[in-house]
Formats: sequence, structure tokens, C-alpha cells
Amino acid sequence: MILKVTTKVRCPHCGKSLIVNLDLSQPEDTWIEDCPICKQSIHYSSAMANGKLEVTAQQTK
Ligand SMILES: [Zn+2]
Repeated sequence: MILKVTTKVRCPHCGKSLIVNLDLSQPEDTWIEDCPICKQSIHYSSAMANGKLEVTAQQTK
């Protein structure tokens, strides 16, 4: 059973669309990852909402 999905988010720094890999075995998660385009740190958080996994990307503080 494959629990990996990909979704698109917008980088909060440069505004480019990024592909994010998600692990559905941990639907509620937060992590930090560098934007592959502008190299700035992005704070991701994922959460289940209405049976759908939603990811938000914010600037790290
Ligand atoms: Zn960026």
C-alpha cells in the first residue's frame, strides 16, 4: 500500500509552485524544508480537513 502522495503549494518567499511529497501515514505533520528555487526555509504544515489532506506553507520566523 502506497501512502505517499504529492501536492502543490506556493512558496511564501518567491511565489513559485512547488511539488511536496506527503506521507499519508502521518497526516498531521509540520516540517521545515528549503525552497529548491529561492533556497529559503519554508515551514510546512499538513492537516486532514474534510477527508482531504491540506498543506500550508509559511515563512519561518
Ligand atoms: Zn521559494
